[in-house]
Amino acid sequence: MRLLRLLRLLRYKIVMRHDIEIDGSFGEGGGQILRTSLALSLVTGKPFRMERIRANRKRPGLARQHLTAVNAAAIISNADVSGNALESQTLTFAPQQVIPGDYHFAVGTAGNCTLVLQTVLPALLTIVGESRFVLEGGTHNPLAPSFDFLEAVFLPILGRMGANVSAKLDRPGFYPAGGGKMRVTITSSGTLKPLELLERGAIVSQSATALLSELPAHIGERELKIVKQRLGWPSRHLRLEEINNPVGPGNALTLTIVSEQITELFAGFGERGVRAETVAERVVNEAQAYLDANVPVGAHLADQLLIPFALAGGGRFRTLAPTLHTTTNIEILKHFLDIDAQVAQVAEKAWEITLHKQ
Ligand code: ATP
Repeated sequence: MRLLRLLRLLRYKIVMRHDIEIDGSFGEGGGQILRTSLALSLVTGKPFRMERIRANRKRPGLARQHLTAVNAAAIISNADVSGNALESQTLTFAPQQVIPGDYHFAVGTAGNCTLVLQTVLPALLTIVGESRFVLEGGTHNPLAPSFDFLEAVFLPILGRMGANVSAKLDRPGFYPAGGGKMRVTITSSGTLKPLELLERGAIVSQSATALLSELPAHIGERELKIVKQRLGWPSRHLRLEEINNPVGPGNALTLTIVSEQITELFAGFGERGVRAETVAERVVNEAQAYLDANVPVGAHLADQLLIPFALAGGGRFRTLAPTLHTTTNIEILKHFLDIDAQVAQVAEKAWEITLHKQ
């Protein structure tokens, strides 16, 4: 009889401790799968195990930015972790309770620190309390949300969902010097309200900023010239901004489109060996595709809205053709939450994504 009870208890413990298994090479196969899994593990308390982390990348495994995200997630939840080392391709992560508070995380390279925030923020939106983060690393990197995107686009949407999150840039950080620093304050009531973003509404303003750090002014001037030629935005809406506390060279061209229902922002970054005109052409192409599609949500914002919308219990938005980041994020969501997503093409260049509870 006692033996039977012991066996039952043991079986219960084994079932309870069963980790969600995630193949890091699935879909997009990069850092996003890891960050989404960490974020949702923190939200749900469900442990997970990931193999083949960033298998589709030239240098697979955890880079500095991903390792900082893993460690940040572990610190705020006092998690049990294994495999949290540079280049590791396997990770196990078992969080305990997430504690709001004051935290400081530094990537230590030019690796992006807004992506570290992307990892820890969702859980803090589901808990009542106030947190203050100091984040250091890159703040203006290619292939990641820039500080400006965070401040002008992503955080205001969270605000409309009921979360009060503000961000302040102390110093921008560019590749390769890094050294950027931002502060984020999160005041959460513990719940998010569902949101629908179906229309863009009329355009209220369009502006461009060429940000320069330790680089000659002509780089920004040439970028703004392309913006003026291609988009026809007037000179008074084009601005050159030089960083007065630089840590190293860097350049970002940011196009901001404010519409009645939403603000979207497109950014390109200067690189050695890439002409300023080419940097500008690429960003203009991205902004033009957004304007042509007549949707509220741009391609990058789309994958980033999925977690907060799922945490709100559902929501709906119109966007451009879903990226691999978006479709992969949807699949990872389903591992952790009872959420279903429909992706439907509603016009030649417009898709509608609907999230709802199963
Ligand atoms: P990798 O493993 O590919 O090296 P990573 O961990 O640095 O990648 P990704 O997995 O590619 O990053 O995820 C990048 C995230 O940054 C996505 O959420 C994407 O939407 C976002 N992002 C990329 N470019 C922009 C941009 N220009 N504006 C806003 N967000 C962006």
